[in-house]
Amino acid sequence: MAGKRDYYEVLGVSKNATDEELKKAYRKLAKKYHPDANPDNKAEAEAKFKEVNEAYETLSDSQKRRMYDQFGPDGPQGFGGGAGGPFGGQGGYYSYTSSGFDGFGDFGDLGDIFSSFFGGGFGGKNSSRKQNGPRKGADLNVHIDVTFEQAFLGVEKEITITRDDECTNCHGTGAKPGTSPVKCKVCNGTGQVKQVQNTILGQMQTTRTCSECHGTGEVIQEPCEICHGRGKVRKQPKIKIKIPAGIDDGQTVVLRGEGEAGEKGGAKGDLYITVKIKKHSIYTRKGNNVLCEIPITITQATLGAELEIPMVDGSKEKYKIPEGTQTGAKFTIRNKGFKSINSSSIGEFIFTVIVQTPKRLTKEQRDLLVQLAKTMNEQPPVKKRGLFG
Ligand SMILES: [Zn+2]
Ligand SMILES: [Zn+2]
Repeated sequence: MAGKRDYYEVLGVSKNATDEELKKAYRKLAKKYHPDANPDNKAEAEAKFKEVNEAYETLSDSQKRRMYDQFGPDGPQGFGGGAGGPFGGQGGYYSYTSSGFDGFGDFGDLGDIFSSFFGGGFGGKNSSRKQNGPRKGADLNVHIDVTFEQAFLGVEKEITITRDDECTNCHGTGAKPGTSPVKCKVCNGTGQVKQVQNTILGQMQTTRTCSECHGTGEVIQEPCEICHGRGKVRKQPKIKIKIPAGIDDGQTVVLRGEGEAGEKGGAKGDLYITVKIKKHSIYTRKGNNVLCEIPITITQATLGAELEIPMVDGSKEKYKIPEGTQTGAKFTIRNKGFKSINSSSIGEFIFTVIVQTPKRLTKEQRDLLVQLAKTMNEQPPVKKRGLFG
């Protein structure tokens, strides 16, 4: 995956290109690099064509585009790697990667675009393949709430989702075990029936989806008693989700292969989990920095003090503020913010001190302050809003 060109660059559009601009750029380039249009340098054209398709496939899908913008071309660091990766054991891993170019038959919803500039021949072929061949299962979208601390440290959560899984009784065929679906007699297994219509322009041939087999080309004679011929069953599996440390509100992690079951041996869809981070009573976040306010007393502010600052991970950091610290002064503790999700950098912890004016004083404290006030009143205050002004 490394060394890939930037998808925006591939399509020659800006990072904030609209869907319409993307489509336009894509059409132009796909036409230019289509292998059939470049018989003299087919290999090179095909490589370009593949690149253009891959870029468009990612950027034209708003969710994939968001992931791409968020994590760059290689996906979230440390989350890829499939079986070898940290989450390989649970059958999925986090990444946004597209399935890429897989021959002409696998364009999915790009078929409409192709049919528009290849005169329908290409699209027609594609759509019949699409209905008959393996189809990838639908993607699922869920939201998950995490606390500020969980986003900071990373967390593993278990959620229950509802999805169609492949029926284990018939292994997705929909036919009773021991039997197999048979070729549809109406369409002879093609899933489509041709119709000839007489119009004022002459005879026109149209194709429509076979109503007998609903385009599958096969008919189940003895349906599976578990799924009643669907090949799929509704399940509510529990899924473990690893939320990486540093995740921000609204970001998405993808669990490959945890979506709906595919059709006819097609791959399973993916599970997109969008993270919602709950507000914290003390901390806020700006980029990867953690911000908070720390109340201090007038004597700490005046004389300076060593403060114990509570970090997000529960630890404390000692920090010396100088004499004469004003309310609103900001101090930074380096590398105590959020981990960056796609680099090794760490944000900062920035606290703002708020000087608290005491409301209740003991008699002794009051006498001391009165004495102090007397000495201070002998000289004019430095600022208009002085300590006792
Ligand atoms: Zn079944
Ligand atoms: Zn049929």
